[in-house]
Order: sequence, then structure tokens, then C-alpha cells
Amino acid sequence: MFPPSEQTFIAFQQRPTSAHVSLGSLRHNLQAIQSFVGTAKVMAVVKANGYGHGFDAVARELESAGAHSLGVAYIEEALELRRIGIKIPVLVFGGLLKEQLELYIRHDIDVTASSVTKMAQIEEAAGRLGRRARVHLKIDTGLERIGVHYYSSPSLFDEALRAKHCDIVGVYSHFADVRPEDLSLARLQLERFLNSLRYYEERAQAPFLRHIAASGGIMALTDSHLDLVRPGIALYGVYPAPGFEPVLSIRPVLKLKSQVVYFKVVKKGAGVSYGHQWAAPQDTRVVTIPIGYGDGYLRALSGSDVLIRGSRRPIVGAICMDQLMVNIGQGEAFNGDEVILVGEQGQDRVSVEELAKRSGVSPYEILVTLNQRVPRVFSA
Ligand SMILES: *Cc1c(COP(=O)(O)O)cnc(C)c1O
Repeated sequence: MFPPSEQTFIAFQQRPTSAHVSLGSLRHNLQAIQSFVGTAKVMAVVKANGYGHGFDAVARELESAGAHSLGVAYIEEALELRRIGIKIPVLVFGGLLKEQLELYIRHDIDVTASSVTKMAQIEEAAGRLGRRARVHLKIDTGLERIGVHYYSSPSLFDEALRAKHCDIVGVYSHFADVRPEDLSLARLQLERFLNSLRYYEERAQAPFLRHIAASGGIMALTDSHLDLVRPGIALYGVYPAPGFEPVLSIRPVLKLKSQVVYFKVVKKGAGVSYGHQWAAPQDTRVVTIPIGYGDGYLRALSGSDVLIRGSRRPIVGAICMDQLMVNIGQGEAFNGDEVILVGEQGQDRVSVEELAKRSGVSPYEILVTLNQRVPRVFSA
């Protein structure tokens, strides 16, 4: 019995594992952030497949919900946004190679000028193409990633001021560490940034946006909001690290679900999964769930809880590439029962923050490693 078309073939083949993405919650989170930052504009960060939530749908929703602009890491991501018809500004944060400049300029993508040489290359390319380039200057205030050191920033500002074919639409930096319990480095970076900006503010002919805050800065250091903020993880309803006050009324956007596909009784002392890293302390019931590290559900999450029939149950033994085992003790579970790996069931909830805390994996990695093998199901 073969399905008639590829479309039905995919539906026909589907495992019960899926990631449910609430576009309504995403919209709500954008609005919560917007109202918290007041007059600052919001650049919604959608890099890495919208933090694993699905690139196109997330970008479209954020544009229609009123985001000022979108932020991505690579030119390919920006081109995809233009291809699907995104009209608002798109900034690429990542390092630039001059061969890419024609694509940036032709597709009206905002470029990060992170050195004097790159600024000169952007100006040269814009002049050669006879079009204007939109540029954000990048100042390094302590991350030691891309960007001109704050103490050398006048050289980049001078190069930008000389440019005839470029619109300098922003100047930005990025925090290395925003921990609510110790904001000293973030404060120092903000001060370095504002001090270095003075040189440019005295000379610039056109207005531009000053920005430094990502999710952590938005929540813990309101002085850093400036003209624009760049939330990523907070948009998806997840806190960047423990210790943040819940100042934003954000809610989780992603729910990760599967179903029980196998039930067995494991005898006391029997090892479960590869390497027998866990053995049953007494006779127990173990169910198998069709998700594993091949889907991006990392092996480090072994030992975390899932929800089945409203109860928390631990993952036991090593997580396999495509399957994992859950100890339900003397509890009941049947083939087809819903399993929640992230999200709510009954009165309980497994959050990305909880998984991160337990596994030592950052909440960012838990989200972005979920790969294309897990179908995304979007709801309003
Ligand atoms: C990824 C990124 C962000 C978003 O960071 P979150 O911590 O997810 O809010 C903002 N700005 C830059 C430059 C980034 O690379």
C-alpha cells in the first residue's frame, strides 16, 4: 500500500514526536518585551532556525506582530528572510567576508562593520554597485569577538564618517556576561560603549540607533535598553540563565511531545540502554519513547523527567540516537499515551530551564539543537 503523493507519504510516515510552537505566545512575548522597553525599538533575533522553533513561521509572525527588525547570524539566514518576503530591516551579526557584500547590498540586508578594513570594503562595494549600503558599526567592549575595541573606536568612526555610499543606521556592542547577581562587567561594558559613542555623536550627521542589550540586558539592566534591544531567547519564553527576576510576562513558546511506543517489565538488576549506565533497583516498568539525540534531544538530558499520564517520570539509561527509555515504576502507561518532554501536562510542567539546570546544558543549546527531524506544528 503506497501513498499517492510525497505529501501524504510524509504524513503517513510521521513518528508521533513533534514540536508544537505557539505563535500566539511568541507574539505575546514580543509585546511583553516591547511594553517593558518603552520607546526602544525591538530587533527580534531569529538566528539558528528561530532558536529551534522554525525559521520562516517565526520570522513572519514577528514581522506581523510589529518587530522593528530581525537579527540573524549569517548572510544565508538573511537571504532566506528576504526570499520569503520579509520587508523589515534584517541585520547580520556575524563576521563579514568581502565576497558576500554584493548579496548584502542587492538584498538590502544590514551589514555589521566590525573593523576599519571592513568598513572600507563596504563603502567600496556600495560605490561599485551604485547602491547604498545600510551599516551597523560594531564596538567590542569586552567580549573579544568581532568588533573594534572601544579604545580604538575613533578609527572606525572616522572611516564611517568618510563613507559616501553608506547609511550608518546603528552602532552596537554585545555583553559578555549579564548575571543578575553580578552586573559589574555588564555595567563596565555599557560605560565603555557610551563613552566611545561620544566621539561619533559629536560628528555624525544623521541619526542612528545605539544598541547593546540582548535578553539578559533587557531584564537585568534597564539602563542598557538605549534605542533598540535585541531579544532572542526571551522571545521564546525562556530565561537565559538562572537568577533573573520575572520582570517580563513571557511564556514558553515550544512544547515537545511524543507518545509511548513500547512497554516492558524490567527485572531487578537488569541494565537499561547502551553501556548499562542504569540498572533497575527492583522489578519495574519501562516504556520506550521515539526521540533521541538524533533529533537533538541531547544525551546529556538523560536523568531528566518527562510527563506521562500527569506524572513525572525519569529517563533512565543512556539516551539513544532515536529512542529513550523511561522508568514508570509501578505506574501505568499504554502504547499511544502522550509523553511531554517540554511543556505542561495536567498540573505539572517540564521547562527548558529545568532541563538546563539538571543537565548542565545551556537553555540555548537545548532549544537550538532540536533539528529538522522533529516536525514543527504551528498554532495560533
Ligand atoms: C544571539 C544574539 C542576540 C540574542 O541573544 P539572547 O541572549 O538570545 O537574547 C543578540 N545580539 C547578538 C549580537 C547575538 O549574537
